[in-house]
Amino acid sequence: MSNVAKHLEGGFDVERVRADFPILQRTVHNKPLAYFDTAASAQRPLAVIEATDRFYRQHNANIHRGVHTLSQEATEAYEGARDRVASFINAPSRDELVFTRGTTESINLVAQAYLRPRLEPGDQILISHMEHHSNIVPWQILCEQTGAELKVIPINERGELDMEAFAGLLNERVRLLGIVHVSNALGTINPVAEICRAAHALDIPVLVDGAQAMPHQSVDVQALGCDFYCFSGHKMYGPTGIGGLWAPLETLNDMDPYQGGGEMIKTVTFEETVYNDPPGKFEAGTPNIAGGVGLGAAVDYLASLGMDNIAGYESDLLAYATEKLSSIDGLRIVGTAARKAGVISFMLGDIHPNDIGTIIDHYGVAIRTGHHCAMPAIRHFGLPATCRASLGIYNTRHEVDVLHDALLAAGRMFN
Ligand code: PMP
Repeated sequence: MSNVAKHLEGGFDVERVRADFPILQRTVHNKPLAYFDTAASAQRPLAVIEATDRFYRQHNANIHRGVHTLSQEATEAYEGARDRVASFINAPSRDELVFTRGTTESINLVAQAYLRPRLEPGDQILISHMEHHSNIVPWQILCEQTGAELKVIPINERGELDMEAFAGLLNERVRLLGIVHVSNALGTINPVAEICRAAHALDIPVLVDGAQAMPHQSVDVQALGCDFYCFSGHKMYGPTGIGGLWAPLETLNDMDPYQGGGEMIKTVTFEETVYNDPPGKFEAGTPNIAGGVGLGAAVDYLASLGMDNIAGYESDLLAYATEKLSSIDGLRIVGTAARKAGVISFMLGDIHPNDIGTIIDHYGVAIRTGHHCAMPAIRHFGLPATCRASLGIYNTRHEVDVLHDALLAAGRMFN
């Protein structure tokens, strides 16, 4: 059976998916756009564009306290989105899903509202060498504030966690482990459930940075067994400025508020303020209402395609792209983990990644170049920067061929 037939049979029709993304019809430098920068931000399907458009045209108002019709409709739309996102990650309760600006804010929230009051000088926070800066810097700030120490799980030459070293770093001084589910720089998929089991054996809570996992595979926070799960809407075909933090209600109830203001209170006097119940307790101020509505539409869209179908399609495409790019003379893939999601970091000879990115843009091909906000991970390979082609649900084998040919042309310019 041809691969195309197989994808159709598996319920994944990439041409139908592509038709859902209006931006894919545009050209760049008179060439069809081949967008390989989904890991930085995904494109948006019509379902998301129309949901936010409809919200602004027909339902826009502030939420929660209004008695008028528009306010009630807006509240229903926003809270309805919370229901759907919570069920998308199999959260036991909708109240366990805090809407944030995205992964970065979710991690900062846990650092300041959960961990800060629990830390003493000499305590440890454990992360890995492949973390995005958003899962490094909030902990460094916290260490400065509290006298705690940051410890780092090393990675091997394929860009996988060194699990033996990880086991050796677990001890009773570790107060939290922060680990990325899927690395945005290397594509590595980490064995999160196994990691959680090992950490929990010593009562160490685990925060998972799920920014790059959510768009590629089904995420079940209960099956993973983590304590905090963080994600961003714009990586999963939803709007920017909206994302989530999942944590069990018990934990959220036990946490200090993150910011003070409207929404996060039940009553306020000058003498005393009674905080709202979660998730409202962590959502001070007017939120990104249309963003929430758009994120609800994004998870509906992903669910309609089926996360297992998406994972299957992207894994075939990753294998194809890996083979195709590896056939280019002088091309070195950085990050060759046994379990990978749709991210290919690479170098082409010693050509600077920015030069490659600029040249192939003229072929309509969008890749990312730089350190991908994961400087330590890239430096581990002795590099200051790489090229990164990241895959989304709309990429095709034909586009991979276009990327391949554009890279050949770029390589020729330097010979
Ligand atoms: N973690 C990972 C693995 C990421 O890829 C990103 C975004 N590049 C982030 C965290 C931060 O996400 P955001 O900028 O949406 O907060």
